[in-house]
Amino acid sequence: EAKRGGRSQVRLFDRSMDESARFRHSIEAGLRQAIAKRELEVVYQPIIAREAAEVVGFEALLRWNSAEHGEIPPSVFIPIAEESNLIHDLGEWVTAEALAECRRWPGHFVSINVSARQFRRQDFVDALAARVAAASISPDRVQIEITETVIFDDDARAAETLRRLRHAGFRVALDDFGTGYSSLFNIRNYALDCLKIDKSFIDGLGREVEAAAIVNSVTHLARSLGMGVVAEGVETETQNQALRLAGCSHLQGFYYGHPADADATAALALAGEAPAQGGHPGAGAVG
Ligand code: C2E
Ligand code: MG
Ligand code: MG
Ligand code: MG
Repeated sequence: EAKRGGRSQVRLFDRSMDESARFRHSIEAGLRQAIAKRELEVVYQPIIAREAAEVVGFEALLRWNSAEHGEIPPSVFIPIAEESNLIHDLGEWVTAEALAECRRWPGHFVSINVSARQFRRQDFVDALAARVAAASISPDRVQIEITETVIFDDDARAAETLRRLRHAGFRVALDDFGTGYSSLFNIRNYALDCLKIDKSFIDGLGREVEAAAIVNSVTHLARSLGMGVVAEGVETETQNQALRLAGCSHLQGFYYGHPADADATAALALAGEAPAQGGHPGAGAVG
């Protein structure tokens, strides 16, 4: 009885392993052709400067509408692309698109997500700098979002790449802060312009006292270290008020705007006045 149960469990497990492997393969194969088949799109979510309460930049977010599978979220296909070399092609495509769109938004910056594997490539900074120069965009209008894994995988080289990015004039944001192992203590020596506090902490605001305490102290410390602080995933007025009180320099989330396509984004950027200089999360963060 037990033996038979055990064996069928093994068989079930094998089958689901098999199915998930097959799923990954078909995603990978589809993704390999997605650029050529024009199934990819970049959408842009506004980032708001707290003090002036205006849109100062946009985060570029990749979308894939597959003929075969329908809409697949980046949380599903990015990790699969990261396990193959596909992430490099996707990353280059997103960067080219985002830079072309950024030219339509005078005074606003664009924030581009970069995977650890892209970041670790020897020519990452030079290739980015060449692209930005070719697009005639000032590098200070381009922010690179990295995650904590980038720093902890290989700290000496990561630190060097961060310095080179900053030296070339780019801004660097640490995305999803608080979800990994980094603390303000061990990131203080890296060249970072701002922290993006992960949505999971913002979600707790108005619900758990601990969430407010964490957000307040992270914001205070980050700003005293000269970093800007972006709150991610702001959805409600309650959260918005708490984040303004906490002193976050920038706010991003459905409360202010969903990611939108390139034309809607250009219209939004042009509707407001060009933001004043220093609208960037990393600019004038102290004080
Ligand atoms: P992320 O960089 O942390 O991006 C923020 C995510 O939160 C986005 O999800 C955005 O649509 C979502 N979001 C923003 N405001 C709100 C809100 O108020 N409520 C809720 N519920 N969600 C909100 P998305 O676009 O599905 O992207 C998920 C993740 O996929 C990104 O997280 C990023 O890690 C990755 N990703 C997306 N595009 C790219 C890309 O071009 N390259 C790389 N390497 N990763 C990407
Ligand atoms: Mg991001
Ligand atoms: Mg994030
Ligand atoms: Mg996130």
